[in-house]
Amino acid sequence: MTGPAYHDLPGASQDRTTQAQGRLAAPPVPLVGDGIPVPCADGAERPYLSLDAAASTAALGPVLARVEEFLPWYSSIHRGAGYKSQVATWDYENARSAALAFAGRSSGASRAGGDVAIICRNTTEALNHLAYRLRLAPGDVVVTTVAEHHANLLPWSRAATCRYVECGRDGTFGVTDVGAALDKRPAPRLLAITGASNITGWMPPLDGIIAAAHDRGVPVVVDAAQLAPHRPLPAEADFLAWSGHKMYAPFGAGVLVGPRAAFADGDPFLAGGGAVDLVDLDEVLWTAPPEREEAGSPNVIGAVALQASIDTLTGIGWNALISHERRIAHALRHGLASIPGVCLLGPGPDAGTLPVAAFTVDGVPHALVAARLAAEEAIGVRHGCFCAHPYLMRLLGHTRGDVHRYREQVRRGDRSAMPGAVRASAGINTTGDDIQRLLAAVARIASGNPPPVPYRQDPRTGDFRPCGDAAGLGRPDSHQAPCSPG
Ligand code: PMP
Repeated sequence: MTGPAYHDLPGASQDRTTQAQGRLAAPPVPLVGDGIPVPCADGAERPYLSLDAAASTAALGPVLARVEEFLPWYSSIHRGAGYKSQVATWDYENARSAALAFAGRSSGASRAGGDVAIICRNTTEALNHLAYRLRLAPGDVVVTTVAEHHANLLPWSRAATCRYVECGRDGTFGVTDVGAALDKRPAPRLLAITGASNITGWMPPLDGIIAAAHDRGVPVVVDAAQLAPHRPLPAEADFLAWSGHKMYAPFGAGVLVGPRAAFADGDPFLAGGGAVDLVDLDEVLWTAPPEREEAGSPNVIGAVALQASIDTLTGIGWNALISHERRIAHALRHGLASIPGVCLLGPGPDAGTLPVAAFTVDGVPHALVAARLAAEEAIGVRHGCFCAHPYLMRLLGHTRGDVHRYREQVRRGDRSAMPGAVRASAGINTTGDDIQRLLAAVARIASGNPPPVPYRQDPRTGDFRPCGDAAGLGRPDSHQAPCSPG
């Protein structure tokens, strides 16, 4: 690629964006590495099917292409004087603007002083960053919900006093439930809520909830880790956090968006180079946000990848994406719910969730279901508690006494009876055939027939592995342990 002339610098990134968009297609859109053959317990290789998009996604083709295109131009940004540094700085700042636009806001227009996008590692870092920057006191109240991922619980419970919105047996709550928590005294300083559950795919009625909080003068942070790849972000939220690796840009960048004013005063979350205007040994002059919030060398490649993903998703369009994922969600959730012995957690199959489904299989531990899907079918799902323990315990109907018992077992180092579920989660690349492949495999497991190979469980992790000749499956870390039939 030939570099842009000096006076053309501002156009350089847009040119490449247009090239990426030129390769768009309607979903399903394949991801890098889709269908790669992996070894199974019977010695055969099968095409790998990832149904773990809610945890992390592979890269979109245009994201990889954009990163490869950018790599020869990679250089230090912001204070580098060279030509490549200026190109890289331009691309990095373009990615920041793209993130703001993706969040439904511009850097100047929406509120007094405008909003900033802070490029960070991921949603977890973004929420911890915000919890630090809001300078909460232990007595301050943050309203949050029992449906949150730990990333949107622990930063708040560490910095302040949390008040929790409860959910019903189906894992949902309504605007009035949130309003009631907001109305209690002392008045909350913040509402921290998920845009979509990583366990059930359920989306709280965010528009009404944000309006209810704003009516009461309470700012809102939305954990958009699950929402970002699937739905437009709520432009009315004061703060938003999301991760590139869940939206087909697995290069280590995430975003925190919020009002510039919230970051204008006080110490940044990270102190160091790039966040300052002037340092003397006894005085620091912090620079303006967003640079004030991005001490250290930034993840330029991650930001470039994130922008490529934003451009690609925007080019495909929400209508096409949403209608594809609604079809997949319908097939997945109805299909699982209709298999005898399978219990779908959360709201019913018609609840209009993201293409995510958590389920249990009667008489088969969740860890064994996941192990069998991997070893016999080359299907990658997730099992366990999905970093949202309070929500999962409610979905499973466990009491506080049950939770106490599990905690005692874990303290003893025994995870063999850990409660949990299996989660299948889909995305832009998932086809109807992929879902049928999963459903057929789950039906075989739920049928009660013994597995074709024996499995053993490691009580320290709770995980199952096939044993005998099939145990290795090409993995370097497998070691043999006494084997029991699955
Ligand atoms: N929130 C939700 C709802 C999530 O699903 C996740 C990841 N599973 C996170 C936050 C944390 O995201 P990350 O690991 O990218 O920080």
